[in-house]
Amino acid sequence: MSDPSPPSTSGTVEADIAVDVLVIGAGGCGLVAAIAAHEAGADVAVVEKGHAIAGNTSLSSGSIPGAGTRFQVERGISDDPARFAADLFRVSGDHDAPHLTQRLAETSAELVEWLVDTAGVDLELIDTYRHVGHSVHRLHAPRDKRGTTLMEDLQREVERREIPIAFGNPATSLITAEGAVVGAQTENNRRERVRISSKATILAVNGFGRNRELLRRYCPIAVEAEYAGAATSEGEALRWGLGLGAATGNLGAYQGHASFADPHGVLVTWTLVEKGGIIVDASGARIADESVGYSAFAEQELRRAGPFYVIYDAAICDAVARNQEEFGKLVEIGGAVAADDAEALAARIGFDPSVLADTLGAARAAATGDAPDRFGRTAWGNGPLGQPLRATRITPALFHTQGGLAVDATGRVLDVDGRPIPGLFAGGGAAAGISGRQGSGGYASGNGLLCALGLGFITGRAAAAPVGGETRREAS
Ligand SMILES: Cc1cc2nc3c(=O)[nH]c(=O)nc-3n(C[C@H](O)[C@H](O)[C@H](O)COP(=O)(O)OP(=O)(O)OC[C@H]3O[C@@H](n4cnc5c(N)ncnc54)[C@H](O)[C@@H]3O)c2cc1C
Repeated sequence: MSDPSPPSTSGTVEADIAVDVLVIGAGGCGLVAAIAAHEAGADVAVVEKGHAIAGNTSLSSGSIPGAGTRFQVERGISDDPARFAADLFRVSGDHDAPHLTQRLAETSAELVEWLVDTAGVDLELIDTYRHVGHSVHRLHAPRDKRGTTLMEDLQREVERREIPIAFGNPATSLITAEGAVVGAQTENNRRERVRISSKATILAVNGFGRNRELLRRYCPIAVEAEYAGAATSEGEALRWGLGLGAATGNLGAYQGHASFADPHGVLVTWTLVEKGGIIVDASGARIADESVGYSAFAEQELRRAGPFYVIYDAAICDAVARNQEEFGKLVEIGGAVAADDAEALAARIGFDPSVLADTLGAARAAATGDAPDRFGRTAWGNGPLGQPLRATRITPALFHTQGGLAVDATGRVLDVDGRPIPGLFAGGGAAAGISGRQGSGGYASGNGLLCALGLGFITGRAAAAPVGGETRREAS
C-alpha cells in the first residue's frame, strides 16, 4: 500500500443491495452499532473482512468503563461522569477530541446497562483490582475476562435480530455521490464485487496498527514495537477518510504494552509488576517507575535498546500462574527463568551481578519504606521481592493505534473545515481516540473499548435517525 489516498467510487449508485445503515467491520464497534441502529428501526447490514469474528475486541479482556452504573451502586461505589472525565483528562492531558471524552463519559453508564439489558452481554463490575487511571472501580467485564466472550454475546444478539453479517467481504472503497457517502463496494472471496447502497455508512474497521507505512507516517515510535493486535487493522478508514477531505485527530497516540514475552510472543500479565515486580534492562538496572502502567511504560522501553526483563519472586509467580491461565502456560514452557538469589539470576541471564544486586537492594528498600525510590515509585503490591527469584524476557508491544478520523459527538466524520461529511460515521479505532495526542502514556484502562462500544452505541443510533423508523422493542 503506497498511496494513503483512498480508492473511492463516485456517481449514481447502481446497487446490488440497498440498506438504511451499512456497518463496515464486525468488531466491537460494528456489532454494537448494528444492534443500536436496528433497535432504532433501521434496516442494517454488516460486512466483515475476516471469515469469522476475530478483530481486536476478541483479543481484549473485554473491560469497559461505566461511571454511575447500577452495578457500582450495588457495591456502594459513588461515581459519576464528571469524576470519570476528570480521571481520563488527568491521564491523557489535552488532546484533539475533548468533546468525545465528555460524551463517552456521560454515556458510559447507559452503555454498560444497555449492553447487559438490551444487547445480552453478561458483564460484572471488576472490584478485585484497581485499573490504570481510574480513581474508583468502574470497569465492567465478562466473568472470564475474555473479549471473545463479549463478542460471542454480541454476535448472538445480532443473529437474534436477523441482522446479516457478510463474512469474507472486505469493503474495498466507499461510494460517493454529490459529496455524500452513499454506500460501499465490497469484494467476496470469489473476487465478485458487490455494491451496497446505504443512507448511512459506519466505519468500524479499527485503526492502522498493522499498516507500517501509515505507522511510520503518523505514529513513528510504534513502528519499533512488536505488533500484538489483530491482523485486520490495516488503516482503511484513515485512507478513505483522508481521500474525502476528512480531518484527523490524535494520530500519534497508541496503546502499548510493556511486557510481551520474548520470544514466546504472548502477553506477560502486568499483575507481576502490580504485585511488586520490577523491570530491568540487559545490565540489570531499572529504567523508570513501573507504576505508570503497562501502556506508558512501553514507551520507556521503546526509547531504549532492549532486551528487558521483568523480575519477580517465586511467591508472585505461583500465585499469578494459579489465577491466570496464559501466564501459567508460559511458566510451564520455561518462560520464567528461576534462580535462588540475585547472583544466580545474574549468572543465568547475563546481568552485571553488582548492578543487579544494587537494583534489587534499592527496590527492596523503597518497598519497605526505608529509602525513597530513585524513580519515585510508591506502589509495591506485596512489598519487597523475596527469594527465590524469577525473570521473564520481555519486549514492548503495540496493541492498537488511538488516533483516527475526526468525528463530532454523534460520530459523524468531519472534514477539515469542521463540517460533517454527509452519510459517513466512524467509531472505535477508526475515529480519533481519547488517549492524548502522542505516545502511549495517555491511555487509561478501558479507553479502547469505551471508544469502540461507546461510539458504536452513539453512531448506531445517530445513523438510524434519518431513517425515521420506530424504535424496536423486540427484534422481529
Ligand atoms: C491484547 C489486547 C488487549 C486489549 N484489552 C483491552 C481491554 O481490556 N479494554 C479495552 O478497552 N481495550 C482493550 N484493547 C483495545 C481494544 O481491543 C480495541 O480498542 C477495540 O477492540 C477496537 O474495537 P474496534 O471495533 O474498533 O476494532 P475491532 O474489534 O478490531 O474490529 C474491527 C473489525 O473490522 C474488520 N475490518 C477491517 N477492515 C475491514 C474492511 N475493509 N472491510 C470489512 N471489515 C473490515 C476487522 O476484520 C475487524 O473484525 C486491547 C487490545 C489488545 C490487542
